[in-house]
Amino acid sequence: MSLEQFSLKGKVVLITGGGRGLGRAMAEALASAGADLAITGRNMATLEEACRALKPYGGAVFPIVADVTRAEDAAALAEKAVSEFGGVDVLINNAGATVAKPLLEVSESEWDTVIDTNLKGTFLCTKAIGRHMVQAKRGKIINIASVSGMMGGATISAYCASKGAVIMFTKAMAKEWAKYNITVNALAPGYFHTDMTAAGLADPSIRNAIVAKIPMRRTGLPEELSGAIIFLASDASKFMTGSVLIIDGGQAAG
Ligand code: NDP
Repeated sequence: MSLEQFSLKGKVVLITGGGRGLGRAMAEALASAGADLAITGRNMATLEEACRALKPYGGAVFPIVADVTRAEDAAALAEKAVSEFGGVDVLINNAGATVAKPLLEVSESEWDTVIDTNLKGTFLCTKAIGRHMVQAKRGKIINIASVSGMMGGATISAYCASKGAVIMFTKAMAKEWAKYNITVNALAPGYFHTDMTAAGLADPSIRNAIVAKIPMRRTGLPEELSGAIIFLASDASKFMTGSVLIIDGGQAAG
């Protein structure tokens, strides 16, 4: 056994929402393992700033502006990545959104934003990039789900519904595309410090209630996903497909 199997040298990884939050932290981990990266998001300034931080790792870093909820953006994103790098070895569907409100206060457009970003965005990018992987007869797809896709959470029903669906989409695609040598897995984080969770974690009563549910009695740091994402993106996980890897301090353990 050699640690070489964890190397991402010569691999092209496309990560949606790679400009900030968990996506940016995972991009940094992947860059440190040698990957060439395409990072996407809706804001070029954010992406350029991330590219500057990732360049010193030595691999190529290419920013692509795209809204994952739009089919034409997903198609253009795939075209741009393929013309820049000649192909994509690993797709990470990370872009995500949430709304934290009791169901009776959730508007139709808030519901749609969460489902369209988390679920439809994953479908659109998987289809756009997966088309090239099917042709190449190889690839890895990693969907960023959540423990909220495995356990219900009060006031985040749209989020839980979308992430539960992402997990089932992962399993379905693992079965559908195994014959093309494409693996499809999910990473399910628990609570991590990012813009998405900042408001809740800043409120001491919400924060305490969250931490009380986590056996390790703390939330995660974005860099604590590094080992898992390198494993999932690398040859070290090549016989793994249809799986959900949980990183949550024990929250979903039961
Ligand atoms: P942030 O809100 O901090 O970042 C969200 C990211 O998604 C940004 O890069 C944003 O880029 C991008 N994004 C959002 N909407 C779109 C869109 N329509 N098109 C393209 N990009 C979009 O969230 P996190 O970093 O916390 O979350 C990242 C992923 O991890 C999500 O899927 C989330 O559900 C999941 N997750 C997070 C947890 C946590 O505790 N933080 C726990 C479990 C899962 P921009 O706005 O620049 O376009």
